[in-house]
Amino acid sequence: MQVSRAASAFVLMERTMVPFTVAIIFAIAVAAAWLLLYPPQRKSDPRRRRFFLLGAGATALVAVPPLAVRLMRPRQLLPPFEAQVRPADPRIAALLQGEHLVPPLPLPPMTFSTAEVELLRPMLSLADRDWQRLDQDFARRLLVVFNVMRERHGYQMVLLEGFRSPERQERLAAAGSHVSNARAFQSLHQYGLAADCAFMRDGRLVISERDPWAMRGYQLYGEVAESLGMTWGGRWAMMDFGHTELRSRDARA
Ligand SMILES: [Zn+2]
Repeated sequence: MQVSRAASAFVLMERTMVPFTVAIIFAIAVAAAWLLLYPPQRKSDPRRRRFFLLGAGATALVAVPPLAVRLMRPRQLLPPFEAQVRPADPRIAALLQGEHLVPPLPLPPMTFSTAEVELLRPMLSLADRDWQRLDQDFARRLLVVFNVMRERHGYQMVLLEGFRSPERQERLAAAGSHVSNARAFQSLHQYGLAADCAFMRDGRLVISERDPWAMRGYQLYGEVAESLGMTWGGRWAMMDFGHTELRSRDARA
């Protein structure tokens, strides 16, 4: 709860940055205009000087907290935009253009809360698996990936987590770097442009990369996703085999 409150404060600070910056610029503009209209005289008026000092103090008071937040904040970690990639495979391209794919039916919550799952993906039971909260273009591509994985490779795929609130992102980051490296708004999950997926086998969720069948599945999943212009976490230094995201400029606009 403590972390969540801190995260909310952080997010609030982030959101109020723009009005704060505008206020600071406005204050500086007013001060400059005042100096132009009433240039300082040789014999300075103590009342006016006190007025000036008060104004400067108030400006500093308003400006310091947001500036401190900005300075203490880690550097922007969101990935750069990437150009759209057209699928090389004409059949996949046709799928993307053509039929309307429907999200799979939700699985029972128990699927995501077994001891095995909890060990590999802590806090997964509270994850958001609503396809409607994903960016539409991204969801469409991910559904094509699921479709190709099932039809061509015989893997039934499962969405483990899609949209992730900044509060939850902070909680995951606080749990340690093995859970998440990204802070609030540093992951495309917060924009509905990323998803973590795994596989179903015999009615059970299979996440482990140590399972050769799952590992083969992850490789294929990565290949199919990349052919659709998505970025696959399996290529990162901190490998995240189930993660895909869409970094296109079109999708984020
Ligand atoms: Zn992810």
